[in-house]
Amino acid sequence: MEILVSNEGIYEGNLILVNSDFPLRGKSTSLILVNEKYPQVLLQAEAAQMLRQAFRSIIDAECKDASVSASGCFCEGERTEIQKEGGYLLSYASPIFSEIERTEIQKEYTMLVSGCCGGREQADICKESIALVSGYRSEKEQTDIYESSLQENGAEFTAKFVALPNHSEHQTGLAIDLGLEKENIDFICPDFPYEGICEKFRAVAPQYGFIERYRKGKENITKIAPEPWHFRYVGFPHSAIISENNFALEEYIEYLKQFSANGEHLKYDNGRTYFEIFYVQAKKAGSTKIILPYHTDGAAPAYEISGNNVDGFVVTCIMHLRNSIRQHRFRKNI
Ligand SMILES: [Zn+2]
Repeated sequence: MEILVSNEGIYEGNLILVNSDFPLRGKSTSLILVNEKYPQVLLQAEAAQMLRQAFRSIIDAECKDASVSASGCFCEGERTEIQKEGGYLLSYASPIFSEIERTEIQKEYTMLVSGCCGGREQADICKESIALVSGYRSEKEQTDIYESSLQENGAEFTAKFVALPNHSEHQTGLAIDLGLEKENIDFICPDFPYEGICEKFRAVAPQYGFIERYRKGKENITKIAPEPWHFRYVGFPHSAIISENNFALEEYIEYLKQFSANGEHLKYDNGRTYFEIFYVQAKKAGSTKIILPYHTDGAAPAYEISGNNVDGFVVTCIMHLRNSIRQHRFRKNI
């Protein structure tokens, strides 16, 4: 199957590389709120939805108890009630129950008071939450941030942590700065430690299309100091491949160039879905022809095309959903 894409598309899509060498040239469309609590924080719709799902997955995994609310915490009034109930339980327990029973009651009390299902460690995670610090920025906003950082923090700090206008990923609507929720959150360098709920997010992020964009050890490539708080949406399975190989996005865009439509494809199989990925260099004329591979059963694959913001396109084909293979075989057997 052949399709023709306009070369304008080089500058659009989840995989565009925006850095000091490659300015943003496309437009950010379909920006939406991630969470109504943060009316200033917008992301492109797909990125916003996947971020919500990533957050939900942490809450579901860590706070299974039905009594735990979506935020993972009891409110102050509820906690006081539980303390009272627990205290009553303890005082009632002492004279009547055996040593073993008392230990059980003590455990139950601790669990109740800690406000979560599985003891101290999980409770601590459920008590923490993640703040959305900064998402989409317009060119003007990035210019203001850059200039005020120059004034307040000086040239050296600003060069390390703040991108020049039109060279910031925040202008794509695909980048988000996250911070551990606390009273004073630093807007430029929020705290997002490698532990607790922040590390839980970091662990699940690649499954939902996000990468930690500016990692330690990659400063020479990204030209940005390590930023544990800055996450970039690139889409699955690219996020998983980048994380598994410890690539910077710059390295991944370069790595993909060895895979071509007619040559070898980059294959990725997560056990449920099978992907084939390749790179197509843009033709000099205003548009580029892309040849898509066929399924083994002759059907055209589902595909997604993203520009790389450099010189071409990355094509991602979903070759087979595992279920459909099984259904296919099943039908044949009948
Ligand atoms: Zn950022």
